[in-house]
Amino acid sequence: LDKLNKIFNQGTPLENHVLHDVSLQVSRGELVALVGTSGSGKSTLLNVMGLLDVSSSGELRIQGHLTEGLTDPQRTQLRSESIGFVFQFHHLISAFSVLDNVLMPLMLRYGQPSKTQVEYAEYLLGEVGLTQYMRQPTNRLSGGQQQRVAIARALVSRPALILADEPTGNLDTQTADEVFELFERFNVEHRCAIVIVTHDPRISARCLRTIRLTDGCIVYDGASADLPSVLKVAP
Ligand code: ATP
Ligand code: MG
Repeated sequence: LDKLNKIFNQGTPLENHVLHDVSLQVSRGELVALVGTSGSGKSTLLNVMGLLDVSSSGELRIQGHLTEGLTDPQRTQLRSESIGFVFQFHHLISAFSVLDNVLMPLMLRYGQPSKTQVEYAEYLLGEVGLTQYMRQPTNRLSGGQQQRVAIARALVSRPALILADEPTGNLDTQTADEVFELFERFNVEHRCAIVIVTHDPRISARCLRTIRLTDGCIVYDGASADLPSVLKVAP
């Protein structure tokens, strides 16, 4: 990202300049915590990075591709090839089986998934410890289990970048730790870059790098261990 700005409702009385000249780079294999108080622009930044929303100015490159000027279908293609999302409220389709939820990104892209793709989805469900629930409707699972399904779904298209918006925000401490450990493992094993928005200082401390936003500006970007303690106190 190079000097990226996001202004909602530009030119109207409701104008809201949310991201200010945000520049940053995330490389393959990095695990980055994105922190900041409520309303500081974390979700907005994640949505722009993930091509779910467009910036107002500045440049965003994904794996070298300049994204400004892409058509909507090109943006969609780049997003589905390169990026996996995990949200706080996992957005699973509750009536579908666990396996079909994981396969959903591939079905949307290719129609019927191939045998290899199904096997990979089954492998990922094994990795997140849900093999025995594979054929069950998703709504029979606990919150932590559903979040693990969402992680498997984010990984199924082998994205280079995973964007997670408070993926543990809705979970108890122990379940949150287990879910975060999955991110750590996939970060190492699949070498994907992961940006994880979190209000939980225990989780940001376990990411090597922390980026902190205040009123849409980056006020810290560096080693989590060196984050000035005054900045760590997040309401
Ligand atoms: P939280 O920790 O509560 O999730 P956040 O850091 O993710 O907060 P954002 O959701 O990015 O914050 O919101 C940042 C600012 O952008 C807020 O002032 C919000 O009102 C505004 N905003 C977000 N989405 C829109 C939108 N679609 N239209 C107008 N304003 C928006
Ligand atoms: Mg948010």
